[in-house]
Amino acid sequence: MSIGIDIVRGQAIQILGNLEGLNRLNIMTDSRKPVTNGLFVPLTGENFNGHRFLADAINNGAQAALWMEREPVPDHLPEGFPMFLVKDTLDALQSMAKAFLTQCRPKVIAITGSNGKTTTKDMVYGIVSRTFKAYKTQGNHNNHIGVPLTILSMPEDTEVLVLEMGMNHFGELTFLSQLAKPDIAIITNIGESHIEYLGSREGIAKAKLEIINGLKKRGNLIIDGDEPLLTNIHTNAFHIIRCGYQNDNEWKITGVKEGTDGYRFSLNNGLSEYTVPVLGRHNVKNAVYSLTAAKLLSINAQTIKEGLKNLNLTKMRFEKVKGLNDSLLISDCYNASPTSMKASLETLKDLPGYKKRVAVLGDMYELGENEEQLHRSVAEVLTSPLTHVVTIGKKGAWIVQPLLENSHGAHIVIRSFSEKMDARSYLADLLDDQTVMLFKASRLLALEQLVGELSSEK
Ligand code: ATP
Ligand code: MG
Repeated sequence: MSIGIDIVRGQAIQILGNLEGLNRLNIMTDSRKPVTNGLFVPLTGENFNGHRFLADAINNGAQAALWMEREPVPDHLPEGFPMFLVKDTLDALQSMAKAFLTQCRPKVIAITGSNGKTTTKDMVYGIVSRTFKAYKTQGNHNNHIGVPLTILSMPEDTEVLVLEMGMNHFGELTFLSQLAKPDIAIITNIGESHIEYLGSREGIAKAKLEIINGLKKRGNLIIDGDEPLLTNIHTNAFHIIRCGYQNDNEWKITGVKEGTDGYRFSLNNGLSEYTVPVLGRHNVKNAVYSLTAAKLLSINAQTIKEGLKNLNLTKMRFEKVKGLNDSLLISDCYNASPTSMKASLETLKDLPGYKKRVAVLGDMYELGENEEQLHRSVAEVLTSPLTHVVTIGKKGAWIVQPLLENSHGAHIVIRSFSEKMDARSYLADLLDDQTVMLFKASRLLALEQLVGELSSEK
């Protein structure tokens, strides 16, 4: 949980104050959060400058601080307070993370993809932590600040580090991958998120493939083998393992059986059957990526099965919530893109045993200039047995436009609302013990508030 003083000292151009008694320090970037033995790392951005909050940081447990050389050092510091002057605090944070990784030498598993990173990360962790001392990205801290902070907060004796890596622009994954130097990299899928910065799905695939730029020699790359944009990689530098439903995959998913609590499946027509207790058909693939990573770490088959079976996943990703009148609500509100929305809708259609299947779908952001077309593309999966589609927001309304234009969705009841809470009473009236209702939209809509209103779990 803490890093040695030598790593901090290694960053400094100049050291002020007295280092006596300082031994191990915990990184602290938020001056409001109390920390013991904190090393305050003030970050700066367009609208904020962490250097202004040193006094708060000291009140909350900072024992020392990194400090940008060009920032004035405050007058009233506690006597001898240690300050490590650096050119840039973010660079120093990233370089401390590199040094700490080199010192601890865990196996690193890096996970990227348009959708399913957090889920796969939690699955991998759920399995590998049964055998190894493992540590994983907390929440969604997957960028140039979150990844180094994750590394710097792992216990020193970590054997396997599971990192989520996100990106919006070219170059970002190269940077993160070269920082963490993964032994195993996973690309879960290629969707449309951040297409506005990356131009096209080809651009997205290229940007995700940057994860190989830091992959260790003779490392392993696990990919979605059903995605044509990922299958053209030829290299001897590392090993590629393709996973998916198509025949040419190394791990071919077979015999998928779905129940109300998740899925059972086999690989390559083998006898061995796995259970993954989460809804969402895409989670079968996420499970296969995860068990492949575990196999590469030589974890035994029984432990892998038990790990998958007993997963404890992060909330708001296809989470089942008890609804009013004994209905079932599925909160998939964490985020949405056209690919993930279609995947969730397919799962909603597959759930056995419900007469009323209601999809509550909202705006999706960051889709670039084709956003209207991309919203409309979701309509292709709005088919029976869905009974109701309710949209929230202006962009959300585009989703059902094709159905309204051609009457092919005539058997589906369609309603559109501009604000989520306007839909509340309409949705409440639909709920009974024959109803399953899915909620999905971009993070900004916070649809979980609507789920909360319609839940009986208060
Ligand atoms: P973010 O970029 O916001 O961090 P993420 O990549 O971490 O997202 P998750 O939070 O794991 O993704 O999942 C978000 C949603 O993506 C899920 O609720 C689900 O609808 C969808 N999803 C998950 N896995 C897949 C997959 N393999 N293929 C397509 N969609 C998926
Ligand atoms: Mg995530």
